[in-house]
Amino acid sequence: MKKSVDIAIIGGGIIGMATACDLSLKGVNVAVIERKYIGSGSTSRCIGGLRHQFSTPAAIRLMKESIRLFSEMEEEFGFSVEFHEGGYLLLAHDPSLLEIFKNNIDIQKSEGINVSLLSPEECRNVVPGLNIDGLLGGAYCPDDAQAFPFAVLKGYREILVQNNGECLMYNPVTDIRKNGHFALSLEDGSTIEAEKVLLSSGPWTRELGKLAGLDLPLYPERHEAMITQRMPKFMEPMLVDYRSDGCYFHQLITGQVIGCYTPVPNVPGIREDVSIEFIPQLAKRMTRLVPDLDKAGVLRHWSGCYTMTPDGNPLVDETEIDGLYVAAGMCGHGFMFGPSIGKNLAHFMTEGEWLMDYSDFAIDRSFASKETLK
Ligand SMILES: Cc1cc2nc3c(=O)[nH]c(=O)nc-3n(C[C@H](O)[C@H](O)[C@H](O)COP(=O)(O)OP(=O)(O)OC[C@H]3O[C@@H](n4cnc5c(N)ncnc54)[C@H](O)[C@@H]3O)c2cc1C
Repeated sequence: MKKSVDIAIIGGGIIGMATACDLSLKGVNVAVIERKYIGSGSTSRCIGGLRHQFSTPAAIRLMKESIRLFSEMEEEFGFSVEFHEGGYLLLAHDPSLLEIFKNNIDIQKSEGINVSLLSPEECRNVVPGLNIDGLLGGAYCPDDAQAFPFAVLKGYREILVQNNGECLMYNPVTDIRKNGHFALSLEDGSTIEAEKVLLSSGPWTRELGKLAGLDLPLYPERHEAMITQRMPKFMEPMLVDYRSDGCYFHQLITGQVIGCYTPVPNVPGIREDVSIEFIPQLAKRMTRLVPDLDKAGVLRHWSGCYTMTPDGNPLVDETEIDGLYVAAGMCGHGFMFGPSIGKNLAHFMTEGEWLMDYSDFAIDRSFASKETLK
């Protein structure tokens, strides 16, 4: 069977779905091709944090737009995506990190972000029960937020389908050819022809790029997460402890505490397995910060991937192959970046120009500067 669309999107995570949704609203004939089910990659494995607190104007502007788009979703979709502005409180236990926070706060404030540097006692006012031993200060933005990935994907999918877009599921792309237009081979033997193609395949994007002869600087690594049983609401912001044995977690508006830590050394590869040490380690790290959490009961533990780039910024661009685009390498931020990237990329793919400066995310950038708040 052969089918033709204007734009084929490979991967139905937040990036592919947001872009597809915006393209369909522009009247583009678009199909999302998904290896398994919508959200089955990293998106449904993420913990739903949304923050303005980045270190470059490009990422901060992107996030200002994304958080605004998240805040409008309930009205747009007709149901709640559990959007809640509980803030992020980034913690510094090290003087050099405190300096980084100060520099970043200057940049963030110049971009109009409501962020401030708090003393350890002020941090404890924001999170009563916070252990401030060794704490030097915190960067706090009360307008940072959370949302529920499953609801966001459901909303995008409904809009896509209402606008005659399609999601083809359980049918991985196995080959990419270009002869005038693109021909994508799918596992079931069918072919999709498209004028343009987007690789938004999360950790699998490098492998897909190779099918088209590209070598994209994308490096997946495993990240695990855990969720507790519901508890009465006791904390608002996402707490981020940047120590090498730190962690990050927040309480959802539904009462569960959900969190992760970044393993040192990292665990490279496309991996969805879990480790035996993760739950005791995370419990130790979380209760060191908020001792009352020792009463929490663990509900579940899973893993997914961060797709890293050499500078901690995503790749969002047209590749050297005309009509073949990439939006991947979201590191730990793809969920929060998704709505804005979808909107901007849909515009770029149809109009050939960016709505905002995306040069920090270009494929041919130097990769020399680094996002300091990865
Ligand atoms: C534990 C954890 C916590 C996280 N927490 C946060 C957070 O708080 N906030 C935040 O913003 N981000 C967070 N992230 C990161 C975020 O989840 C990712 O950056 C984001 O989901 C990436 O979205 P994506 O659309 O690029 O990729 P994915 O969601 O991985 O989607 C790619 C899709 O492509 C499909 N695919 C792959 N190969 C093929 C093929 N050959 N044919 C067809 N389809 C294919 C996959 O099945 C997949 O569904 C977290 C990640 C993890 C693992």
